[in-house]
Amino acid sequence: MGGDRKTEPQSNNDSLSDNDPLSDNDNTVNSQWIHIRKDLRDEVGDAAFKSWLKPLTLEGVRAGVVRLSLPTGFLRDWVEENYGERLRVMWQDGRPSVRGIEIVVTAAGPGGQRLDPAPGTPLPASARAAAGPGAAEMGPEPADDGDSRVSGAIDPRLTFENFVVGKPNELAYAAAVNASEAEVPPFNPLFIYGGVGLGKTHLMHAIAWRARARNPNRRVMYLSAEKFMFEFVRALRYKDTVAFKDRFRSVDMLMIDDVQFISGKDNTQEEFFHTFNELIDRNRQVVISSDKSPSDLDGLQERLRSRLGWGLAADILPTTYELRLSILQAKADGKGVEVPIDVLEFLAHRITANVRELEGALNRIVAHATLLGRDITVETTQEVLQALLRASGRRLTIEEIQKRVAEHFSMPLREMHSIRRSQNIVRPRQVAMYLAKELTECSYPQIARKFGGRDHTTVMHAVKRIEELQALDGNLADDIRLLRRMLEN
Ligand code: ADP
Ligand code: MG
Repeated sequence: MGGDRKTEPQSNNDSLSDNDPLSDNDNTVNSQWIHIRKDLRDEVGDAAFKSWLKPLTLEGVRAGVVRLSLPTGFLRDWVEENYGERLRVMWQDGRPSVRGIEIVVTAAGPGGQRLDPAPGTPLPASARAAAGPGAAEMGPEPADDGDSRVSGAIDPRLTFENFVVGKPNELAYAAAVNASEAEVPPFNPLFIYGGVGLGKTHLMHAIAWRARARNPNRRVMYLSAEKFMFEFVRALRYKDTVAFKDRFRSVDMLMIDDVQFISGKDNTQEEFFHTFNELIDRNRQVVISSDKSPSDLDGLQERLRSRLGWGLAADILPTTYELRLSILQAKADGKGVEVPIDVLEFLAHRITANVRELEGALNRIVAHATLLGRDITVETTQEVLQALLRASGRRLTIEEIQKRVAEHFSMPLREMHSIRRSQNIVRPRQVAMYLAKELTECSYPQIARKFGGRDHTTVMHAVKRIEELQALDGNLADDIRLLRRMLEN
């Protein structure tokens, strides 16, 4: 990507080994880079990888500094801010001599001139795609939205009709319906919060649909907080902030999903705060979602936090058995597949983490039965979901895992939370993270929090690393087998 710029010089691997004196051993450097790219793709997902990381080119390693390049200053700033630390850690993992990384803008020639685009210069195709309209806008003008993965377009399946209501979500549901149908915002902002996979995004999309159905002229904009930040950084970069402000402040309804993402990002918060205030002052509906209540959101400026709580904060609680059963019934009906009630009950009992996993499990057994032409029974279900059920049947905690692993490696338990990086501590810690992922239903961020509040990408990395090492290191594989047996009984 980014190769459509005529001025871009060849800075591929050929030039690296032909005439680049920077690296001592190109082969190992190159192969490490290939691995890092692969790991990054797994970590961040295809869409983000294509937009941001794919255009990264390895220039070489000199004096412990890995030099990478990107075609524009804008991409460079973004990648540096969001992935710089991760890249450094990944390089250091395989190459302890690495002290840091440096991302340069592709030089125009031997002079090494920077190639920052002037404001308005087209971005590389990849960045353009990611920038897209940046948000799903529903209004008189149809959204010019290419790739739904990156634009966050409104998903037609996520409607109120398809949302199953039960005790845990009835307040959020009622508030959402109310906000979508009212002419004047009944509460502003509507703040919907709850754990992962419990239906926050679903409700927001449903609000967009309903509001639009009620009044096709209403300009409704939905985007993730991450996208908001991206758009903002981009506007700053291109000195385009006036257009940015206009765009967000001219809508009738603004929905920002996963606002926890902007914790600690002060400039974005500042801008968001102004946008938010202005819309509320003008009586435009603002809808926010988050994984925590306004008062529990860390890293938010106080005035923003308090303003977020001004309207109605509606929580979505963890699912109950009854709700899970109704959701399963609805989803099975929706697929037009006959699933025996005892199978649905079995699933509702055993898969308790969230609705997303419940759906995933149902999809899996239906696919399995269809592909193999077998009946769906509790037995086949049990078989198909063995791995999943093993994890959710027992309530093994991360603390238990940490304790066992620390004992096994004769390491003080407190090192599980420490930041020390010596090998004899890092490895057991990674093993514990790996086992936490394998044997509990905790998400990466949840695991990260139990290990001294590390970044979730550290956990992802640990899991990958241990997977790889087990294949290479028989002793480690034995250790893990043993630990697993102890923990699973
Ligand atoms: P969140 O944004 O809270 O993480 P989502 O809205 O993405 O969760 O929901 C995860 C999945 O579960 C989606 O496919 C969504 O349609 C489904 N889902 C969640 N709650 C319900 C519900 N009450 N009824 C039907 N489907 C639901
Ligand atoms: Mg969501």
